Amino acid sequence: MNKMDIMSLAETFVNSSKDNIMMQERANVHQLSEPKIFEEPLCGISAATDSLYYELKNETGIGEHFLLPQQWLPQAKSVISFFLPFTEQVRISNRKDKIQPSQEWLYGRVEGQEFIKKFIIHIQQKIQQTGYKAIVPAMDEKFWSKSKYDSATAHPDNSFTSNWSERHVAFVSGLGTFGLSKGIITEKGMAGRLASLVTDMELAPDIRLYKEIYEYCTECGACVKRCPVSAISLAQGKNHDICSSFLNSTKEKYAPRYGCGKCQTAVPCENKIPYV
Ligand code: SF4
Ligand code: SF4
Repeated sequence: MNKMDIMSLAETFVNSSKDNIMMQERANVHQLSEPKIFEEPLCGISAATDSLYYELKNETGIGEHFLLPQQWLPQAKSVISFFLPFTEQVRISNRKDKIQPSQEWLYGRVEGQEFIKKFIIHIQQKIQQTGYKAIVPAMDEKFWSKSKYDSATAHPDNSFTSNWSERHVAFVSGLGTFGLSKGIITEKGMAGRLASLVTDMELAPDIRLYKEIYEYCTECGACVKRCPVSAISLAQGKNHDICSSFLNSTKEKYAPRYGCGKCQTAVPCENKIPYV
């Protein structure tokens, strides 16, 4: 199995899974000609021993709590990262209202994440069927994340963090760089979701076409203007606490769904690298 095989598996699953179709009666979405959630994914591969993973253990990266690929799978050789872009319908729908998320966006955020889980498990199983090991860190029992300030839990000094970061893994694996709003800007933009796995299969790593962590962000400030609660500023980037509070308020209104994504839509990095 090589990268082409993995991409072929990924594309086939995205194109054929019924879970990638918005169910009209559940989505409350009408008149969609092609009601898919995600387009075909991008795939990036990094070596499990890439020096950037070790750098993520520093306080200037994620911190000591970040677990290296080998701490998830001792024989790890490669890390595979996917970016699944939202379809045009999902993206465009969320451009209109300046505050409220569209029904399509909410569906993509919540049911879309359920699809992402099935997608990455499918790739994991296909790799395992060829005799290799594969672990999905974000679904492993060792995984934890903190989405609020909470001094009573383990790692009280670290809030809005986790011991495996899809965005940092995507950066290391050549998929793109961070933007001011803290999403990853890929060649298909920022509006989408990420997933990854660690395997003992030896795959050729992709070459990173960038050097700086914010290289693809033009600091245009469009995401600053789009944020309904002023959670992003050019001077300080994103305030996760303000963003998280707003997301929680959407949960009260749209439960079981929630979401916002205004900083990922109607911005120059929505579906491409802004200056390309
Ligand atoms: S909207 Fe502009 S400033 Fe914000 S992340 Fe995208 S490119 Fe960067
Ligand atoms: S998701 Fe919404 S609230 Fe959070 S930073 Fe983006 S625009 Fe602001």
